[in-house]
Amino acid sequence: MSLGHGRPYLAIPGPSVMPDRVLAAMHRAAPNIYAGPLHETTARIVADLRRVARTTAHVAIYIANGHGAWEAANANLFSRGDRALCAITGRFGEGWAASVARMGVRVDRIDFGRVAPADPGRIAEALEADRGHEIGCVLVTHVDTATSVRNDIAAIRAAMDATGHPALLAVDAIASLGCDPLHMDEWGVDVLVSASQKGLMTPPGLGFVWFSDKALRACGGSDLRTPYWDWTPRANPVEYWQHFCGTAPTHHLFGLAEALTMLLDEDGLEAAWARHERLAGAVWAAFDAWGRAGDIALNVPDPGHRGRSVTAARIGGGGAGRLRAWCEEEAGVTLGIGLGMADPGSPAYEDFLRVAHMGHVNAHMTLGVLSVMEAGMRALGIAHGHGALEAAAAALTPG
Ligand SMILES: *Cc1c(COP(=O)(O)O)cnc(C)c1O
Repeated sequence: MSLGHGRPYLAIPGPSVMPDRVLAAMHRAAPNIYAGPLHETTARIVADLRRVARTTAHVAIYIANGHGAWEAANANLFSRGDRALCAITGRFGEGWAASVARMGVRVDRIDFGRVAPADPGRIAEALEADRGHEIGCVLVTHVDTATSVRNDIAAIRAAMDATGHPALLAVDAIASLGCDPLHMDEWGVDVLVSASQKGLMTPPGLGFVWFSDKALRACGGSDLRTPYWDWTPRANPVEYWQHFCGTAPTHHLFGLAEALTMLLDEDGLEAAWARHERLAGAVWAAFDAWGRAGDIALNVPDPGHRGRSVTAARIGGGGAGRLRAWCEEEAGVTLGIGLGMADPGSPAYEDFLRVAHMGHVNAHMTLGVLSVMEAGMRALGIAHGHGALEAAAAALTPG
């Protein structure tokens, strides 16, 4: 007998839960791509993508996942032999740095570990040491999905500005857009990268790059640019096909348009941020309670350093791996694997897991996951402190 029959719940940090309305919006015949409603839908999406990133910057849409969006940004930002400074706080920061390096850019890595954000002072020191202004861009992950560390983008920008170094600032917001407060223009971000399948509640397959006029000017001569990735025609298309350098991703666009309407016009972006903060608080409260009597701990000790869309945690003695398996097989909930915290296949690898609370997630879903985890800990004999569910309920209803 399994308790897993019923609607399954995928609580991994992407792809995230898709609203039925998004799925329904995609369920239609192929539209004309040369004229008609698709063109208006695209115009609305471009406007909404600016709203969701709080920017007036240009936006290019690629048929790609997050790795493709990284590569799009890289191709436009750099020429072969240029220098980049990568601030790393987890597997995704490492991944972006590796992608830039593979393209022939010289990469200076500053690794800030796995449990705390990048120190803006060390980024400033690295820029100050670059007397010849060779570093063209600083690359930072807003929320690293592997560790759940959230970097302070505004503080990094302020530290960069204080040095007088002209480097651009590029930010990976794949895990944070629509979940954590993000203000591209106010924070002085030059290039922002995201994708459709996390906070934007749409199937994987669309990558986005926002870029300022300053970035457009500074990168005019980048020689890593190839026809598909070049952001210039996508941002200023003379003809509709130039938006996508070919056939439009028609059904993804219908889904995304619906998702952006739900996020921006119905829920409201600030309400969505507040909801993510509240749900994250419930998850953190549960782990704090469990950890009082077990070998259980949140990955990021300081709540002010945590992203609100995903929570990485440790359950020692292989407990995380056993709990993930129990939740999936016995209760219909799939939790995220630990990424980049230990080598795959090693015993320590089974000590880490992640709980996603990104996008189309509400209180009953998050409380459901936590309750199932508690049941799994009981079933598996994983030692844990008591009162986690009460603590989670209290965190959802403060005051
Ligand atoms: C998911 C994610 C990526 C990678 O996206 P893919 O679509 O899997 O290529 C990159 N960066 C961050 C922060 C992510 O959360």
